Amino acid sequence: MATRTQIFREILREYDSLRTKKAAELRERRAVLFERMPRLAEIEQEMALLGTKTARLVLQGEGDALALLGSLKEGQKALEAERRALLSTNHLTPEFLEMEFACPKCRDTGYIGTEQCICLKRKLMDRLYDQSNVRDMIQVENFDNFNFSLYSTEKTKEEGISPKANAKKLYRRALAFVEDFGNGANLLIYGGTGLGKTFLCNCIAKDLLEKGNTVLYLTAGQLFRKLEEQRFHRDDDEEEAKEWDQELLEAELLIIDDLGTEFSTIFTASELFRIINDRKLAKKAVVISTNLGPTELMNLYSDRITSRFFGEFEQMKFFGEDIRIIKKYQR
Ligand SMILES: [Zn+2]
Repeated sequence: MATRTQIFREILREYDSLRTKKAAELRERRAVLFERMPRLAEIEQEMALLGTKTARLVLQGEGDALALLGSLKEGQKALEAERRALLSTNHLTPEFLEMEFACPKCRDTGYIGTEQCICLKRKLMDRLYDQSNVRDMIQVENFDNFNFSLYSTEKTKEEGISPKANAKKLYRRALAFVEDFGNGANLLIYGGTGLGKTFLCNCIAKDLLEKGNTVLYLTAGQLFRKLEEQRFHRDDDEEEAKEWDQELLEAELLIIDDLGTEFSTIFTASELFRIINDRKLAKKAVVISTNLGPTELMNLYSDRITSRFFGEFEQMKFFGEDIRIIKKYQR
């Protein structure tokens, strides 16, 4: 298993080689273009000359500095216009002569000043916790594709509304969660299997990722495996374990999908509550989906833990028939 530091270095190396590659492409692009249109190269030289000439004159105190700078600007403008016109005859824009970045915000360095850019944070999270499956899934499962027609319109006695009306209510709540993201809300999405809990988690993940937030999406299985691994390695390298933990804390949203009874060892339970608590202190949101109802959760964990736990989460209950089965027969 690669350590976090190794992964981190690997990512920084990738930024490096990406920039090197893009710079080489740019040189190549410019060389070809300048050969075809030598005037473009001249324009660049003239621009540079104009700048140094003006600077020299200003420094030597020859003439009025403001007037000099004014004529510099005008000269540059004229050259730029000429360049733009030349390029457009070839259906090109001035950007063609400049470096292109996969992430213009950090210019593919991973950093904005001393702050990590969101693209670096995402890469780290993706690499540390394999998130590629989620990336694929949210292409299909998102707010635009939520299908209410799979839910029954018949009111149930216990709930007083139909599964469809309920699904719509939960859908709107999830949308609002995304819109007001960061206001301290946590969601506990629960109900039987195949009712759309994971789908709703994916909707939330997709929209927040698009809004530029960092989202760490883990199934309970993945999370607890990782924590077990970490515990196992803790004695070898405590620093390393702490670093892994940091990612769990730093993501703006942590989604724990499919929390079930199979994960209720004393270790996993205490780790789960530790994570939730740490994130609460850091004012970071958590969304949990589970097929366990409040009573089952109470039975599984101690009252003290569950009551505190429920206090932190807004409960969103799905009910009705398994829509995955309905979907299957509709095909
Ligand atoms: Zn970036």
